[in-house]
Amino acid sequence: MENEKRFLCEAIELAHANVEKGGRPFGAVVVKDGEVIATGVNEILSTNDPTAHAELTAIRAASQKLGSPDLQGCAVYASGHPCPMCMAAMRLAGVGEVAYAYSNDDGTPFGLSTAAIYADLAKPFAEQSMKIRYVPVRLETGLDLYADWKRRQQA
Ligand SMILES: [Zn+2]
Repeated sequence: MENEKRFLCEAIELAHANVEKGGRPFGAVVVKDGEVIATGVNEILSTNDPTAHAELTAIRAASQKLGSPDLQGCAVYASGHPCPMCMAAMRLAGVGEVAYAYSNDDGTPFGLSTAAIYADLAKPFAEQSMKIRYVPVRLETGLDLYADWKRRQQA
């Protein structure tokens, strides 16, 4: 698809520009109704924000532009294979389509693959490298967090 190639090239060009500024080689664009509505690059080094991946900076900008956290009808074109954090964030935001130009295999020789994190996250919690525990603590006030929220939603 010609548009798809154009949007992916734009993401790669953004990534190149980010590299020239000392950043990591990742760029992304958000497209709605055939138009680029937002762009992003990896800003983790310049902002000391470990979540400032290109896809996340792009969907944050798209949500600000649309005035909504709901990105249904949007597609994201990323220079590289999105990491699990970005993939989940795009899913949660309602993004319906994702395309990327450089695969994890393309990134492996450069230390730019997140395949190992995908593999770790696919395991049961108890087998993952990060300790994850369910500790069902509740406040002594008896006020249930979720029930309180639901009640306020209905009010
Ligand atoms: Zn990411």
